[in-house]
Amino acid sequence: MLQKSRMQGAYATAVNGWIRAHFEGAPLDIGYQNGALLAPQIQAVVERLRLYVRHTWDDWEFFRKAARDLYMPKVPGDLAEEMRGIVEGMRDAGVSDLDYVDVVALNGYFDTSYSYYYYLKANELRRLGEDVPPMEEHGGCSAFVATGSATRDGRIVMAHNTWFPYMISRWNVIADYAPDAGRRFLMQCYPGTVYSGTDFYLNDAGLAVTETTITGMFTFHPEGTPYFVRARQAIQNAESLDAWSQTMRTDNNGGYANDWLVADSRSSEIMTLELGTHHHQTWRTRDGFFVGCNVAQDPEVRTETSFAYDDPNNACNARHRRWHELFRQEQGRVDVDFAKRALADHLDVRVGREIPSRTTLCGHVDADPTGLPEWEWGGNYPGGSFDGIVTASDLIPEGALWAHWGKPCGANYNFAEHLREHPEYAWQVPLAQDITAYPWTLFSAGW
Ligand SMILES: [Zn+2]
Repeated sequence: MLQKSRMQGAYATAVNGWIRAHFEGAPLDIGYQNGALLAPQIQAVVERLRLYVRHTWDDWEFFRKAARDLYMPKVPGDLAEEMRGIVEGMRDAGVSDLDYVDVVALNGYFDTSYSYYYYLKANELRRLGEDVPPMEEHGGCSAFVATGSATRDGRIVMAHNTWFPYMISRWNVIADYAPDAGRRFLMQCYPGTVYSGTDFYLNDAGLAVTETTITGMFTFHPEGTPYFVRARQAIQNAESLDAWSQTMRTDNNGGYANDWLVADSRSSEIMTLELGTHHHQTWRTRDGFFVGCNVAQDPEVRTETSFAYDDPNNACNARHRRWHELFRQEQGRVDVDFAKRALADHLDVRVGREIPSRTTLCGHVDADPTGLPEWEWGGNYPGGSFDGIVTASDLIPEGALWAHWGKPCGANYNFAEHLREHPEYAWQVPLAQDITAYPWTLFSAGW
């Protein structure tokens, strides 16, 4: 039975492929509301991850062990309470097969898969006297933030699409958090998580945050504070770009190393924090743009990666060129409509034609016979972009954003059809899913 007194003000409603959720109160109650309202969805996500990680990295027990050994000692009291609340809420909603360690493992998913796993692998290769092979990492996204003379109104526009294997693409919760302590914030997330993961955040101090993952990062600092904790603390507490950056860099474990794109809607200043494990670089401006497409830019950060920076045919490098080409063409005209079109862009700069593939801003790896070797995705791998989010200076202060569930270009992906051509992905059958495109939808927390 749900404890109604702990559910005050909370809700979760389905809207155009998304779940629009609101949680409020003390940490234990916020977690309880998350677990109670999204119990079947949390169970489904963990079930998907169990199958996916077994075929890709290691079994779920590896993720649970990392949660116990690395993350639980570093989770602060309020977040530990929130995650315990998630377990309680799920139990009261009738789902009792996941425990606290599962919830921490779910939250530590990116720290473990993108970073800890490759760190262990790199150490093992070095022990054997072998080189770290290039670019072994999953993920990908296309993103930008622009301001000043780059945009139509001289203020901020931010946009992001997320690429993942379709079978685990369930980051369809847009959650508005009103915690007793700290800022109010809105984020795109998995059900049952306490941070974004994809990432897209707004807070009521006027900050907007997104990122793209740095490809090929093999460094990690197991004793540090996990990424999911730092990302959550930063959005809940920061009132400035400096404060946000400080939190991300403090006791950094290097987990899920990203090019973070951050905007302050009050000052119209934008920032990139390129955050490796041991090195970082910051760029800031009130007049220009920053793009993200999984390529580290700073020479020192690059020393922590293994990546073909000079290969123009590499998908990430090609998307970098396309972003810069688009911003040259659209100088002074960047707005929300441009952002929506750009996230759906299919121009392959290598051939100068529209061919949806691994190389285009809207990712269609499923249509690409090469797959995405950078991320160990085979030919026509069932993965690519599955969402789009855009925000701007006039939306950020009220906690509003445009969100698109499904491929930003509006194409639908059907797994059964795909499987007929590519039976090698039959292992996904039990939990594979279609990606259906919905219309762009304006969400507002109405702060
Ligand atoms: Zn597309």
